[in-house]
This record gives sequence, C-alpha cells and structure tokens, in this order.
Amino acid sequence: MNSRVALQLAGVDRHYGQGDRLLTILKGADFSLRSGEIVALVAPSGTGKSTLLHIAGLLEKPDGGDVIVNGHSCAQLGDEERTAIRRNEIGFVYQFHHLLPEFSALENIMMPQLIGGLPRSEARERAKQLLDYMRIGHRADHRPSELSGGEQQRVAIARAVANAPIVLLADEPTGNLDPETAGYVFEALQALVRQSGLAALIATHNLELAGRMDRKVTIEDGKVRELR
Ligand code: ADP
Ligand code: MG
Repeated sequence: MNSRVALQLAGVDRHYGQGDRLLTILKGADFSLRSGEIVALVAPSGTGKSTLLHIAGLLEKPDGGDVIVNGHSCAQLGDEERTAIRRNEIGFVYQFHHLLPEFSALENIMMPQLIGGLPRSEARERAKQLLDYMRIGHRADHRPSELSGGEQQRVAIARAVANAPIVLLADEPTGNLDPETAGYVFEALQALVRQSGLAALIATHNLELAGRMDRKVTIEDGKVRELR
C-alpha cells in the first residue's frame, strides 16, 4: 500500500497514578494508520482502547512519545496548536452520541463548520449532503431526542466528518445499538470512509464488525499488536 500515513503513534507511553501504584496502560506503543483504511481496535474492557483513542485524537497528552497527525508532530505543541490540529484533521465519535440536545440534526452538523469559519449557507449545504449520505436527510430538522439510537449515531458520524478531517476515531460507536442497527450504522460509516479516503480507527467489541474492517489491532503489554 502506498497511500500516505494519516496518523502515527510513535513510542507512546501512558500511565495513571492509582494511590502509590502506577498503572501502565501504554508503553512504547507504535501504530500507523493510512488514508483509506479502516482499522478495528479490539481489546477487553479496561485495556486502554479509550486511552489510546483520546491520545490519538489529541484529547489527552501522552506521558512520552509522539502523535503525528497528517505529518504534524504534536509532542512539542501547545494546547492552542493541538486544538487547531484536532479541529481541522480529526473527527471523533463516542459510544453515546454527545449531540447538542437543543439543536436539530442539521444544526449539530453545521456547528463545527461554523466554528471553523465557514459561511452559514455553505455549512448548511454540506450538512444536508452528509445527512443524505447517511440516509437520514428526512430527519434534518429533528432534535436528538426525537431520533432513534441508530439515527443519533449517524448524525454523530456526520458531525465528526463535517470539517473533512483526515482521521476518524470512533470509540465503540455502535456499542449502544442492537446488532442489526449496529450493522447499518457501520455500513454507512464504511461507505463514508471509502468515498472520502479518510483513515478510520474504530474501537469495537463486535467481532463480526471487526471482521469487516481492513485489519484488526489490539493492545497487549502496553503495545499495539496486529491481530490475525
Ligand atoms: P477501555 O476503553 O479499553 O475499556 P480505558 O482506556 O478506558 O480502557 O482504561 C484503561 C485503564 O486505565 C482502566 O484500568 C482504567 O480504569 C484506567 N484509567 C482510565 N482513565 C483513567 C484516569 N483518568 N485515571 C486513572 N485511571 C484511569
Ligand atoms: Mg473505552
């Protein structure tokens, strides 16, 4: 594969202090994610999947090592620069949608674009396209509470890619859905990644979905390992 590396973890360390004990989650973790590929992150609960995704998404700082996003080494950057890279290059989807309850689906998807400085009309147009692409165009004016779990997650995915990031990180995005709905939501996500050339890293407990991704990795002894 000669597509470019969208995201790289290089020798990432992360530990948490628990009383006088040190809990080591990541120790010299290396990982590369290329544009156009979807990688499953599969590991038992408590292993460090969310930790790894938060570090990769510049939501959390590692204790050592570097995160390189679209060629930008982030180890030496301050908070403002990290925030700018996160906004422009990274989309994040959580297990629970985290949509703003008082805004419609359309407005939720417009929001990151408006924050990014796009004119309202353009943000609205792109939000509409994304909703149509996720096959929920007819739900544009509904608030999150008026949407089903699967619809909420499709809006959350659309919002995550609204600013055309290079990397999509998703933390058990279908973990809260029944298997059939999880399948639909994953299909929509997969189509979006294929169409846009995004790089996606998706934590999941769903082995059937993991099997449909391009490759699978796990966390073992603080390192990222390829699963066969
Ligand atoms: P996963 O997403 O695979 O379930 P997490 O990354 O959430 O795992 O957590 C990995 C381990 O780190 C767990 O044992 C968790 O209790 C611990 N942990 C996570 N965040 C913190 C924190 N802020 N402080 C202390 N321990 C934490
Ligand atoms: Mg987790």
